[in-house]
Order: sequence, then C-alpha cells, then structure tokens
Amino acid sequence: MADTVRTTCPYCGVGCGILATREADGTISVKGDPDHPANFGRLCSKGAALGETLGEEGRLLHPMIGEKRVSWDIATETIARRLKDVIAKHGPEAVAFYVSGQLLTEDYYVANKLMKGFIGAANIDTNSRLCMSSSVAGHVRAFGSDTVPGCYEDLELADLVVLVGSNTAWCHPVLYQRLRAAKEQRGTKVVVIDPRRTETCGIADLHLALLPGTDVTLFNGLLAYLEEAGAGDDGFVAEHTTGFGKALETARQDAPSIVTVAATCGLALADLERFYHWVAETPRTVTVYSQGVNQSVQGTDKVNAILNTHLYTGRIGKPGSSPFSVTGQPNAMGGREVGGLANMLAAHMGFAPDAVERVRDFWGSPAIVPQPGLKAVDLFEAVHEGRIKALWIMATNPAVSLPDTNRVRAALENCDFVVVSDCVNDTDTLRHAHVRLPATTWGERNGMVTNSERRLSRQRPFLEAPGEARPDWRIITDVARAMGHGEAFPYQSSHEIFDEHARLSALDNDGSRDFDLGGLVGLDRNSYDGLEPVQWPVVADPEDGTTRMFADGRFFTADGRAHFIAVSTRLPARRPDRDYPFVLNSGRVRDHWHTMTRSGRSPRLARHRSEPFVEVHPETASGLGLEDGGWALVETPLGEVLLRVRQSRDVAPDALFVPIHWNDTVASKAGIGRLVSPQTDPVSGQPGLKFTPANLRAWVPSWSGFLLTRETPENLPADYWSRATVGDCRLYEVADAHPLADPAAYAEAVLGGIEGELVSVEDPRQGDFRWAVVRDGRLVACLLISGRHRLPPRDWLIEQFTRETMTERDRAGLLSGRPSEPAEDSGATVCSCFGVGLKTILGAIESQGLTSVAAIGEALQAGTNCGSCLPELEGILSDMQATPARTEAA
Ligand code: SF4
Repeated sequence: MADTVRTTCPYCGVGCGILATREADGTISVKGDPDHPANFGRLCSKGAALGETLGEEGRLLHPMIGEKRVSWDIATETIARRLKDVIAKHGPEAVAFYVSGQLLTEDYYVANKLMKGFIGAANIDTNSRLCMSSSVAGHVRAFGSDTVPGCYEDLELADLVVLVGSNTAWCHPVLYQRLRAAKEQRGTKVVVIDPRRTETCGIADLHLALLPGTDVTLFNGLLAYLEEAGAGDDGFVAEHTTGFGKALETARQDAPSIVTVAATCGLALADLERFYHWVAETPRTVTVYSQGVNQSVQGTDKVNAILNTHLYTGRIGKPGSSPFSVTGQPNAMGGREVGGLANMLAAHMGFAPDAVERVRDFWGSPAIVPQPGLKAVDLFEAVHEGRIKALWIMATNPAVSLPDTNRVRAALENCDFVVVSDCVNDTDTLRHAHVRLPATTWGERNGMVTNSERRLSRQRPFLEAPGEARPDWRIITDVARAMGHGEAFPYQSSHEIFDEHARLSALDNDGSRDFDLGGLVGLDRNSYDGLEPVQWPVVADPEDGTTRMFADGRFFTADGRAHFIAVSTRLPARRPDRDYPFVLNSGRVRDHWHTMTRSGRSPRLARHRSEPFVEVHPETASGLGLEDGGWALVETPLGEVLLRVRQSRDVAPDALFVPIHWNDTVASKAGIGRLVSPQTDPVSGQPGLKFTPANLRAWVPSWSGFLLTRETPENLPADYWSRATVGDCRLYEVADAHPLADPAAYAEAVLGGIEGELVSVEDPRQGDFRWAVVRDGRLVACLLISGRHRLPPRDWLIEQFTRETMTERDRAGLLSGRPSEPAEDSGATVCSCFGVGLKTILGAIESQGLTSVAAIGEALQAGTNCGSCLPELEGILSDMQATPARTEAA
C-alpha cells in the first residue's frame, strides 16, 4: 500500500477528502486533502482526530453465534438456512434488513438487491430514515426526483444564506468554515432559524428563534410576502411549474398577515420583516436545511414550504441561488441512490410497474417485490408484533438511535433471529444479537460514498482488516450465494458491484431520470481505484459531472414541471401540558458522532463534552432547584434518563436540549431514544425527534465521585455513571442516591480486581474517601468519593496516568487529587487540537485583555488548526462581554 492514501472522512455528509499517511512509527497521521473539492484541505476536530480512533481495541474480530466463536462458513450457512426457513414458513415479508448511512454504496447495493430482488420483500430500510427522509419525500413531491439542486460552492457565491434547523458549526463544520470564510471576504448575510441559539449563530446577522414546529407558518408567510413584494419570477413559474395558485392561497390562509406569523412563530415583528425583506431583495439566496427541518412529524411539509419559496423566485440550481438539503451521514446519499430506503426500488427508481420490470430484467430476479416495504419505525413495530421473525442489522445501533428504544429493545429481545454486522464488539444492539458478524471499517474498506452535494468520492483502504473482519458487501454476497442466488451475486470485488450499479442507473435513461452514472460504466479496476471526486449525474465522461440541476427548468415529474405543494401548519398532536411542560429537543455535540463507537475512542474528542447532559435555561433551573453541574431526571411517558445539568441561555425557558450520543455502553441511563415518541411524518415516515413534551426534576445523590483507571473495573455499583476515554485512562463519573454504608467494601468491589498496592485516605465525618492503586511505581487507578460533592479537578490526576513512574512529590499529592505544587486546571476542553480548556481561555482573556478570537489564537493556539472551536471562542468572548463573571458547568 502507498504511504499516503487519499480517502474520504467517515463522519458527516460534508464528505471531506483525507490524506492518511502511515508514519515511520506505524501510527497513521491524517490531514485534509487539499485537492478534494468538498474541503480543499480543511478538516474539523472529528476528522483531524481520526488517527486516534484506529486500532484493534474494542473490535469484533470473529463471527460469533451466541458466545461461541464460529467460522465464516458456519456463520454464513446458519444465516442462509434461518432466512430460508423463515421465508418458507412465514413468507418473505417476515424477513427484514436495517442498514446504515455508514455503509459504502457497494455494500448498500448488494443488501438492497438481495432483499428486494431475491428475498422478494422490500423490508429494507436505513437509519437515514431518521436523518433526511423528509427531504427525500419533499424533493420527490416537488421535482419528481430526489435531487439536491445545488452544491457547496453556492454557499460561497450567495449574498444571503438562510440556515434552517441546521447547527452547521457543529454538525457540518467544514461547510460552516467555507461559509464563514465567504462571509469574511464578501459580507454574505447569514440568517439562522432555530429555536436554540447554537454556535452557528456566531456568524448570524439575524437569529430567528422561532417556536418549535412553526416552520411551515414562517415559510408560508414568506411565500405570501414575496408575492406581495413582486419578487417572483413569473416567467419561470409560468413555464416550468404547476400548482402555484393553490400553494399561495393555502399559504395566505395559513399565514394571513406578517403580524399573525410573528405571533404564531413567537418572533419579533421587526426581525421577521427584516428576514422577509432580505429574501425578497436578494436573488442570490441559498436556503440550507437539515435535521431541524427533517426530524419532525411535519418534516416533508416543511421541506416543501421552503422549496415553494425557491420555485416562486426561480432561485434553483443557479450559482449562489438554490435550496440545499445537507445530509447527516457520510453515505446517506449513496443509500438513497441504490434504494436503501424501503419506498425506493433501485437507482432512484420507485415501484412504478415499468421500473419494477426494468430492474427485474436487469437483475434476473423473478421474485422482485412490486411494492414498497416498511419504513424504519414501522419495521421495528412489525418486529415487536412478531410479524418480522428474522432481522439483519448492519453498521447501525437502533437500540439507541430509534425513538422509544425500550420498545425497540423488547422487539429485538423477542425476535426469533437477529443478526448484527458491526466493526465493534459491544453496542446496545449487539447485546441482542444471535449472530454477530465482524465487518471492516474506515481505513480498511474500499468503495464509494456520496456527499450532500451529489459528489461521489472513494473510501480507500490503508490498513489490513483485523482478525476475520470482512467487507459488508462480501458478507452479504456469501449469504446470498448460500441461499442459492450465486448466479446473481458473482462479485469478487467492490469494483464489479459499482459497475453494475452504474449500468443500472444508465439503463433506458437518456435523461429521463436524474440519477445517471452512465459516464462511469465500464471503468477498469485502476480507473475505479483512482476515480477523482465527481458529482452525479455523470453521463458522458468520468471527469464530467454535473455541478447544478434544474437551472434549465426541466424537472423529472410526469409533466416535466416542478410542483408547488400546498401546505398548512400542523402542530404535533402531543403538546406540552401540566405533566410534561417542556419541549425536549435533541441533537449532536461538536466532537462526537452518532453513538460514539468511533469518536468515543479519541481522548481529545471526549474531553470537549465528557458526560451526558441536559441543557436548561438558568431561570428554569433556579425554579426547579437544579444546580449547574448537578443532576436531573428527564421524563416522558415512555421513560426517563439521568443527566448532568448544564445551565445555558441558549435554550428557551420552556425548552430542554439533550445530545443524542450517549448510550448504555458508556452511561448508566442517558439514551434519549428512551424518551422520544415513535410518531412519524405521514409522508416520509421520519420520526419527530426534535419535539417531545417532557418533564424535569432535580436528582440529588447522597454522594458523588470519579474513578480514573487504566483497567476496566469489574463492578461499578452506582445509580449514575458515565465513561469517557481521556488520555491513557478512562474517566468514570459516579453518583448514588444511597449513603455509602461501607466505604471499604465499596472500594474493594470497584478496585479489588485491579492488582497493585492500595493506598487510601478516609474522612468519614465529611464523607470523603480516596483510594489509589499503584503498581511498580505507576498509577493504575484512583477512586475519589465525596458526600459533600467536593471533588478535585480531574486534569492533574489524568496527567499522572501518562507517566511511567510517579515522583515522590506526585505521590504526596495523589490522594488530595492535587499537585503539591500549583498546577493549572484547564477546565473542559474547548480547542481539541491543542487541548486548550475553558478555564485557561477565561484566564488568558482576563489577564491579557484579549478581545478577539485571533488574539486568543495568538496567545494560546486555540482555534488555529481545524477551526471547529472558533464559534465557541466567539461565544466565550461575547458571554464575557455580557457577563464578566462567567462560570463553568462541571
Ligand atoms: Fe469529517 Fe468534519 Fe469533514 Fe464532516 S466536516 S466530513 S466530520 S472532517
């Protein structure tokens, strides 16, 4: 393998190019690829830390049936036999696959072909259903195809960028960096529409903190305003669209005046007028929307309300002028292309009879299914009801990420046969598997991904697969062959699969379908391996992609016109009430990804937010007796979670925010899926993950503490615990409601299995107990507990784990948790690249009079590498200007 390999980041839908280099010491260093058109060399904190997430620790290395290691042959035969048995006894509808935007396009293609073509059911759905299926449905309703019209460059060419339900700074950081740079160069106006004040607001000229669920009213009001202002493109509407009259009439009924819109959305009239005026007067407007729009029980209507405004102004597919849905996952778009969603067949074709016939003939699959299957939430409900008896889950963790996870877990527990393919050996979902299959992961895989701007890029391998791990396409191919479908699954490489996928996309196409890879048909192996990033459709030449779509006014509907969709506001049926008075919102944090199976391995990423938390407005916290850094139980009728409290004015007093990442492998009870109702959008089937009525109450433990350890404890009895990798050790935060009756017995339970000399300091009157295990002069573990919740900072102790031998002076400070000489407590990490903490930044701002992020960068380096922390640095500066005495949440 070459020393430096060009590949693509496995995290978000920006799809940044990466140069991975094997260094002389065997480690892998990672840099942004300066030639990749998604990022031009930039990376965010997650991408920059990818090198830390590699390695065999925690990997699933061998096929397992129950707790028994088996050969691949036995695992493959077992799966094939069980699937065939279920099909024979209960029919093909009793089998389901649940797949993932983490899969490569070739993996996805083979899984879809096996299910829809040869098992003969369409019960294959993807976790992208949770991410952007409302955008897919909105696109199809308006354009007749699931087409993203614009590209990233449009954010740099626009004069006005409207970000709706998109915390771009944290969720698509390199796209945010590109927008930020464009704003600095040419003064782009930025409007952020989000109930929460997110880090993205750092570059906003206007933040519209609308009431949750009122987006349709806002954009219906905009459509009516644009019409009154004469801002429409009448020629485009007349020649290339249909349905404007009905859409406008409905919009006027839904949003009769700007005053009523302001009242419904909870916005200041002047702010709303400013927003509408800016849109009306700015031809180069891009509207970016993401999970805040999609993850709603009215997500599809929200998408169409946005698209209506772009169709009316003719601002679509033109430089700096387009609607733009950005996807969450690295290959959500690839999944859409192959038919990974249950309601699509393959290659962007649905289930129209001619499409079914075309695909049937191409695949040679008389058993092809003629109608859509079950979407994710319904699919797991069918598992719960026993209608689906065999389920194969690939590269995803639905026991954490789906709504109502208690019910999902019960469904998995009761399912006759559950297969899980994954690269790691412990997830909440794997715990329910009858068969576990070791899959390859980033750095080992070889195939294609598509980013949010329709750009195909290669993921290329630079590591050997560990143990017996195999690519997903090969695992599925082998099972297909064992089921008797060898002729249709002859693949020896991902290259062959991609070629078949490209040929299907081009079959009978001639411009009648948006998705066309005809220009990539027949690539030889070297050309496939060396393919440069290219945007589909690629009709003629591999180097000749399509930057923008629809500027010619030609759409893929039956009449060739774009369709306005008349939409009215429909607020969620379940609203906050006396019992559940808060609106619970969910989302990502900057340095974690999904359920943390990869990002949780990086110490520098973990230290940005090392514990699960709920963000609460200070007034709400004070009314409920919630301390900043204390704990709270968040409850809904479906369940409860126990979290640290972070007080923040970024959420409204009647709102809560909880991140999605924590799960049962890293925390006692933090998975937000436990709380969220499985109500879905009726068109897209996407669950409303952003709007859950919830209650909140203080939880006051009898004691709290933390454990730092190099070795996994056999027991950690505590009502609350959370785990983070923080350097050369793991940090467990712990707390319990019951008094510590026998501290020595507790220490024995936690530390007893760890070999070494046990030293302790106890102050029973204060309820303070400290133990440390030292082996060969090296700190192996320490456990500090306080009945007064007075615990030393973790930083200095964490640093002791980086040392091979402790000095006498360090030993003296060990059980106090503090050095015998003063050392800095830097606080929670803000800049992951240089490990600069909040307290260090606050101290430097105060002592050196720093007034800009550039000055902070000069003094501390913070923000001078990947730039992911720049929004937070700006937030810190502006908070300090507003309230000089800033305090930090624990
Ligand atoms: Fe990866 Fe960050 Fe680029 Fe997303 S923005 S693809 S996480 S480097």
